[in-house]
This record gives sequence, structure tokens and C-alpha cells, in this order.
Amino acid sequence: MKFGGTSVGSIESLLNLRDIVNAESKPVLVVVSAMGGFTNQLLAMCEQAQQRDISCLDMLETARKRHHDAIDGVVVEAMRDEVHATIDRFIDESLKPYYLALATNPHMPVDEIERVCDAIVAHGEILSSAIVTGMFEDGVPHLSLNYMRTVPDAAGRVLDWEETGRLVEEDFASMDSGVHVAQGFISRDKDTGAVTNLGRGGSDYTAAILATLLDAEALEIWTDVDGFMTADPRTHPDATVIPQMTYAQAQEMCDAGAKVIYPPTIAPVAMKHIPVWVKNTFNPTAPGTVIIDE
Ligand code: ADP
Ligand code: ASP
Ligand code: MG
Repeated sequence: MKFGGTSVGSIESLLNLRDIVNAESKPVLVVVSAMGGFTNQLLAMCEQAQQRDISCLDMLETARKRHHDAIDGVVVEAMRDEVHATIDRFIDESLKPYYLALATNPHMPVDEIERVCDAIVAHGEILSSAIVTGMFEDGVPHLSLNYMRTVPDAAGRVLDWEETGRLVEEDFASMDSGVHVAQGFISRDKDTGAVTNLGRGGSDYTAAILATLLDAEALEIWTDVDGFMTADPRTHPDATVIPQMTYAQAQEMCDAGAKVIYPPTIAPVAMKHIPVWVKNTFNPTAPGTVIIDE
């Protein structure tokens, strides 16, 4: 079950997530995005810091409060202090020093700036996943930085399926009990160990990769619309939900810009004939869309 930015973006949506996961009797792996809008903010703060504008640190305090408020609203009482401390630790000991390094080092080489910004942007999913894990008495964290591996290619970077497969097998060796929680989007370079990612919107792809490697019975993409629709409902208010599609149809619409699923997501699950459901976190009883072979 992959939950996107709006699905982890507020106390209301996180409580829906909890109910959706708890209603499932089979073992669940939850893959989460950053809280809605936070990835954009982390990147905007990178730009500001590079302009020597340290007001980005004020924005960081707003983000800190947003995460702490969510913890108070959803995390189980016994875990709350620990999750609050985790959020503060990542902000104070990791994000702040990175932003200060960008703001105070005018001669930082371009590749080093890129490396720092990649490390910064990974924090969206790191923070949201700490909260989501803490929502379940039996939450089990799986740090994607430990097993998602990329290699450079002409277009930027691609997943190293072999190495990722080997590491996923190790990390997920026992999945019998508990609610398992992983971060979407984030990865490491196979050779340098530098933090990388699968591209904007890449959490869907992380979930598809894990579904494929773990032989999941289904991949569920939980988002903020009732399913895969005939068009983007934001620009086409008359768009309707498509109850059932083939992988090929979904791929074609994603390639044409249907943002609801990140395009690389479809191929791996199609190869393994894993059905993909698109469902609404804010309206979980709506039937949604199922994407299958025929
Ligand atoms: P998430 O944060 O859950 O990954 P996204 O914003 O990436 O969500 O994708 C969901 C959004 O995709 C919807 O809010 C909708 O505006 C947009 N969208 C674009 N095309 C489509 C489509 N064909 N069907 C459904 N949603 C679409
Ligand atoms: N948080 C990342 C982004 O905003 C990945 C995702 O949400 O899928 O692009
Ligand atoms: Mg998305």
C-alpha cells in the first residue's frame, strides 16, 4: 500500500491511513511519500540557501511544527516522545547543517551542491515514515536507504535491480507479523553510497519495485482521487473514474501525463501480473480502479 503526499499530509488523512491498514487482514507493507508539499519546500529551501538566504531556516521551523503536530495527533502514546526526538534529531543534526553548508560555502562545487540537495530532499520521506511507523503498536521500519540502489545512466540514474533485489531479500527476510513501513522515492548510489532518489513522484515506483521483489498479491496506490480517471479532474471537472484498465492502457495514459501514477511504476508489476489498485484515502469505500492484464 503506497500512500502519497496528501494521504500522509494531515492528521485527518493519517487517521484514514491507519484505518485502511488496520482493516487489512493480510501482511501489509506501507510505502510513504513525504507530507504533501514538503518535498517542494525542501528544494525551495535549497535554492534559498544557495542564495545565502538563511530565512530557509525559518521555513524549517514551520515544517518542524507541522511534523510535531502530526505526531501529537496520530502516534501511539508510548512512541510519541521517541518520534518527536527523531524528528528533532534529523532537523537539527542533519537538515540544518546541510542548509548552513550551502549558505556559507560560496565555492562549493556543482556536484557537491547536487549531492547535498539529494541528501536534503530525502528527509521528506524519512520524517513522514517515522510518524507512520509510530502510528502502529507493531510498526516495523524498513529504511529504503539500506536496500534501494541506483546506478548512473545517460538520463540520470536507474534502479540496479540485481543489487536491490539481493538487499531487499535480506531486509525483508521475516515479514510475518506487524505493519511494515518503508520510504518511497529515496535510494543510494550503488557504488558511492551517496543518497539518491527515483525522481519526482517516484514513491509509486518504489512501491512497485518492492511489490515485484516481494511477490505481493497486489499493489495499492492510495491517493486523493477516486481512481484512475478519464482526465485530470483538476482541469477536467467532468472526468470520470475508469473502473478497470489494462497495464498497456494505464502505461499509455501515464506516458501522456496522467500524474496519478509515475510512469515507470507500471512495467515491473505488469511483468509479474500483480494487480494495481488506485484508491482514494479520503473516500476509501469508493471502488477505485484496478489495472490488470486483460
Ligand atoms: P500522490 O501525492 O498521492 O502521489 P499525485 O498528486 O502525484 O498524488 O497524483 C494524484 C493527482 O493526479 C490527482 O489529484 C489528480 O489531480 C492528478 N491526475 C492527473 N491525471 C489524472 C488521471 N487521469 N486520473 C486521476 N488523477 C489524475
Ligand atoms: N516526495 C516525492 C515527490 O514529491 C516523491 C513522491 O511523492 O512520490 O516527488
Ligand atoms: Mg504521485
